[in-house]
Amino acid sequence: MRQVAGRAGAVLRIDLKAIRYNYRLLQGLLGKAKCGAAVKADAYGLGAIPVVQALYAEECRDFFVAHLEEGIALRQHLPADAAIYIMHGAPVGYDAELLEHNCIPVLNSLPQILAWRDLARQQQRRLPAIVQFDTGMARMGLSDAEVGLWQDDAGLTDGIDLLYAMSHLVSAEDQSSPVNHQQLQRFNDLRERIPACQGLPASLANSSGIFLGSDFHFKLARPGAALYGVAPVAGQANPMRAVAHLQGSIIQTREIPAGTGVGYGASWRSSQTSRIATVAVGYADGWMRSLSNRGIAHIAGQAVPMVGNVSMDTITLDVSTVAAEHLLPGTLVDLISADNTVDQVAARAGTIGYEILTSLGARYERTYSD
Ligand SMILES: *Cc1c(COP(=O)(O)O)cnc(C)c1O
Repeated sequence: MRQVAGRAGAVLRIDLKAIRYNYRLLQGLLGKAKCGAAVKADAYGLGAIPVVQALYAEECRDFFVAHLEEGIALRQHLPADAAIYIMHGAPVGYDAELLEHNCIPVLNSLPQILAWRDLARQQQRRLPAIVQFDTGMARMGLSDAEVGLWQDDAGLTDGIDLLYAMSHLVSAEDQSSPVNHQQLQRFNDLRERIPACQGLPASLANSSGIFLGSDFHFKLARPGAALYGVAPVAGQANPMRAVAHLQGSIIQTREIPAGTGVGYGASWRSSQTSRIATVAVGYADGWMRSLSNRGIAHIAGQAVPMVGNVSMDTITLDVSTVAAEHLLPGTLVDLISADNTVDQVAARAGTIGYEILTSLGARYERTYSD
C-alpha cells in the first residue's frame, strides 16, 4: 500500500520495542552486571523522554547524560529510584544545582572532586559520585598526575560516597585492537593504587565493550549506540534490531533531457533522458551534504541513487527505472530502513552511525511505536 506523508515532509518512526529488545539482548550478555544506558544528546537524537521510559520499563535504573541541563530535563520523567549521571560533571559553580535536581556527577578532575567535597562539607552529608580515570583517551577523567596526588592525599574524597570507578574505551568496536586490553590493565592498576577505589564497583564498557567479554563488564555497563540499533562490532553481522526508520515524501517529479544539470552546482548531469524525483528532506534535516551523489533511497523496495547535491530542504533521486505508480506526489520513500541501515547510510556519508542518528532533524513527524 502506498504510504503518504502528512503535514511534515518526512516521517521518522522510532521503534521503542526494538530498543527494549536491544536492551534485553545486552543485559543478557552482561549476566550479573547491570546494564545502564547512555541517553545523552536526546538519546542519540531519538527522543530521550520516550526512550528512558521504555528502558525504565525494562528495569534499567542507570542513565547517563553528558550535560547537567540534559539531566534536569529528564529528572521529572523518571522515578526517584532511577539514577541520572552527569558525565561532564557539574559545570563550574553548579554543583549545588546538580545536587538539588537529584543528579549524580561523574568527577573527571581534581577541581571537580574538590568542589563536590566542599559541597558535601557545606551540606554536612555524604554526596554520591562516580569518579572517572583516563586510561588512554586523553579526553575525560583523572590523569596520571592527579591519581598520584590522590594517592598522597587519602582525604581527597572525604564526604564523597563513591559509587563507581569508571573509564571509557578508545577502540572497543575493533575487537582485535591491543588498546582494549591495555586500557583494561591500566584501569585495574589505577583502581588498585587508590585505597578508596579498592573493592569499589566499576564501569568500563560502552556498547562495543560489552562484546569484548566478561573481563570488560565489571558491575555496570553504559551502552548507547547498540540500544539504538548501531552495529557494535566492526566487521561482524549486527545483532541489534533497527530502531530508526526514516521516510521522505516525493514533492514532484520531472523528466529531463540528456545533459541536464541537477541541483546546486550541477554536480550531476544526466547522460540520457531521465526522471528526477524531488524529496522533502535535506541537510537541515540531518541528511548530510556529504551524501551528495552518494546516497541511495528505496522506493517500493527498489534502490535508486541520489543525484546532485543535497539541498537544505530537498534531495533529488534518479527514478528513471521506477514505475510511475510509485512516484505520485506525497509518496514516502525509504531513506533509513532495513534495506539501508543507519550504518550503511553512515558509510556512504563518510561518518559513523552515531552521527547519522544524532543529526536527525527537528522537522520530521516523529512517531513512536511500542
Ligand atoms: C557516549 C558514551 C557511552 C556510550 O557509548 P556507546 O558507544 O554509544 O555505547 C558510554 N560512556 C561514555 C563515557 C560515553 O561518553
